[in-house]
Amino acid sequence: MMNVLEFFRNLPKKKCSKCGHDMIEKADCYGNLCDDCDHPAR
Ligand SMILES: [Zn+2]
Repeated sequence: MMNVLEFFRNLPKKKCSKCGHDMIEKADCYGNLCDDCDHPAR
């Protein structure tokens, strides 16, 4: 059986669709935007 670590290792790196920055952490939390682009009102 595939364990959890193996599962995450096989996940493709997600990139922010706005700035193109790699999103390694919280890859599933912000859709296609990185932390910065997800909070533009600043
Ligand atoms: Zn971004």
